[in-house]
Amino acid sequence: MKTAFFFAIAVGMVAAASAAATWSSSSRSPLGPQNWGSIAGYELCGTGKSQSPININKASTTYKNHPALSFANGAGNIAFQMMNTGHAINALPSNPDGAPVLSGGPLGSATYRLYNIHIHFGNSTLKSSEHAFENTRTNGEFHIVTYKTTYGNISAAVGSGEAGALAVFGVLFDARNVSNTDSGITTFIDYASNLTYNGDSSTVSLPFPMMATTEDLKTFYTYSGSLTTPGCAEVVTWLVNDRIHYVTPDVMDQLAGLRSGNMSVPSYLLLDNTRPLQMLNGRVVERNFEAPSAASIVSVSLVSVLVTIAASLKNW
Ligand SMILES: [Zn+2]
Repeated sequence: MKTAFFFAIAVGMVAAASAAATWSSSSRSPLGPQNWGSIAGYELCGTGKSQSPININKASTTYKNHPALSFANGAGNIAFQMMNTGHAINALPSNPDGAPVLSGGPLGSATYRLYNIHIHFGNSTLKSSEHAFENTRTNGEFHIVTYKTTYGNISAAVGSGEAGALAVFGVLFDARNVSNTDSGITTFIDYASNLTYNGDSSTVSLPFPMMATTEDLKTFYTYSGSLTTPGCAEVVTWLVNDRIHYVTPDVMDQLAGLRSGNMSVPSYLLLDNTRPLQMLNGRVVERNFEAPSAASIVSVSLVSVLVTIAASLKNW
């Protein structure tokens, strides 16, 4: 009863606000991910059957010999306009026409131009990656968003509704005091930490090859999914790097004070700008690398069978 009452309030607020077509990435907002499907124009977020993000159960993935991915025009440092959008920290290439172009893997010879790089993040203790491995999230995830060059721009690609109109390379990162921290993500976070309020922006130089290393472009999971923000269009070929990257807890916590609004209005913290895990609904998740060892596959498979049985019992 109590839940229904609060849901009614939330939906009421969603309806009232829908004229402005607003949404929030914060689960603490009535316009947050839990209610996106109730916002006019964003119904697919609630009804879609190929939504993202998902849990990746490694033992349930299917091996397919996809070649490595590669970026053309991706060498050296690249200038980006980085901005706090109120939903994430987005970095758009300053020269969009000369931006790196992705191909290979399941994309084959089709070419996908970089649109933006953005991050979903928690703090050093809050696990807010979008995808999960074995139902475990990490502290953050960065997304390199690209669109098929046969479309003139990102809007046309999203509007096409074509599965695979976009390709997003995702990298999960975790906050740990280890020596092999990731300089690409650390640089991104250093710059992002200055953009406290919605609308704050700056021109930055990002070491692009460090954010999509040749090594990381060789090992990934891939599946057909959606944007993880409204309207959740099911147009994305997801490419999720197998390797978890690291930043120090101190670096991770530099993002803890970022806000979703501007300086003059109360707003939510930007952190935890992460959509809940979505149902797989029978989709196949492929991996392009052989499993590490038969023994571990067998044991993990057994666990996954037990988890599946437990989950099906729960449905009763
Ligand atoms: Zn994203």
